[in-house]
Amino acid sequence: MAKIICVLYDDPVDGYPKTYARDTIPVIKSYPDGQTTPTPSAIDFKPGELLGSVSGALGLKKWAKDNGHQLIVTSDKEGPNSTLDKELHDAEVVISQPFWPAYMTAERIAKAKNLKLIVTAGIGSDHTDLEAANKHKITVAEVTYCNSISVAEHVVMMILSLVRNYIPSHDWVRKGGWNIADCVERAYDLEGLHVGTVAAGRIGTAVLRRLKPFDVKLHYTDRHRLPADVEKELGLTFHENREDLFKVCDVITLNTPLHPETEHMINDKTLATMKRGTYLVNTARGKLCDRDAIVRALESGQLAGYAGDVWYPQPAPKDHPWRTMPHEGMTPHTSGTTLSAQARYAAGTREILENFFAGKPIRDEYLIVQGGHLAGVGAHSYSVAK
Ligand code: NDP
Repeated sequence: MAKIICVLYDDPVDGYPKTYARDTIPVIKSYPDGQTTPTPSAIDFKPGELLGSVSGALGLKKWAKDNGHQLIVTSDKEGPNSTLDKELHDAEVVISQPFWPAYMTAERIAKAKNLKLIVTAGIGSDHTDLEAANKHKITVAEVTYCNSISVAEHVVMMILSLVRNYIPSHDWVRKGGWNIADCVERAYDLEGLHVGTVAAGRIGTAVLRRLKPFDVKLHYTDRHRLPADVEKELGLTFHENREDLFKVCDVITLNTPLHPETEHMINDKTLATMKRGTYLVNTARGKLCDRDAIVRALESGQLAGYAGDVWYPQPAPKDHPWRTMPHEGMTPHTSGTTLSAQARYAAGTREILENFFAGKPIRDEYLIVQGGHLAGVGAHSYSVAK
């Protein structure tokens, strides 16, 4: 029997849903690169249910009970008196979602003497100190691809919302107004603009594909170049480094993992190299940007808009300046936790747990750290400080 701590966001303020807006979600068996969606032995939830909040428990309650594991589900994760800190000392597995991350610091990892596995129910394991996980030979795994398309859709939505000034226009409707000039004095078409992604991995490439029909000029930069036929099909301009991309784009979207090479890549200096009136969309990680530099750039007009759903820390404090800065289109960290995405990462979490407890290998594409090293997909996409 193992002790498993599962840190999830709170239920809706009106209570756990009794009904849903829709009755089904599409069945998706594989992702665009052919990787199969998760294949646990079974699931104990109906796809489309709310699984990422405490009562949803990632659909793991029955599985844990049937297998004799102690499953502690909590949203209480900050500070020495939190449930997470109180329960950690003898836990074998910690699960959390990037939307409501259990920050697995070196200090917490050192305290958790029995810890063997940290699962990110989602994508992006930067809330775990990967060096500390390496040092203690803890396996870190995430459910690669589970919500990449969900995020790509959010990016496209945010780009269109900013460029077309959707949120302020909607606000006028709610206020009872018909203030067309107020709505359109900042509204443009996306057509013809130069749109670039920093990183063309799963999300970045999906964004490029989705934007192609808008007749925009597409740009990207990445550590590895995409195949020539993909560049040709999408009409992509490749830039050797992000600084070159920043200079030419009207809209920039960030789609890299957060690691030492990418932290604060957007700062006063890099913002100054962009065109005046650039739109920036960041659904990757809050710390890719210098928080206050973003506010300054929006206030000065260097940025025409900033949208995203990733912050630091999470949850963001009430006085976080990104809540109130001008021309923002922020959401809480929701892009990767639609009900559709939850069904996939809940199943993927169960697949990882089943394999782990059966002593079977975890899929390479899910592994970030194993046996003291970056492993699997982690070895490709992450770096640790030297
Ligand atoms: P992928 O691993 O498919 O893509 C990441 C890409 O970033 C890879 O192509 C990688 O390059 C590239 N990259 C890494 N470091 C650099 C660098 N220094 N400069 C340029 N490119 C770099 O991941 P996903 O597309 O699935 O996800 C990307 C990130 O988005 C995640 O790490 C996570 O932080 C975030 N995310 C956010 C979600 C949300 O809900 N908002 C949900 C899911 C993910 P290469 O492979 O060529 O080495």
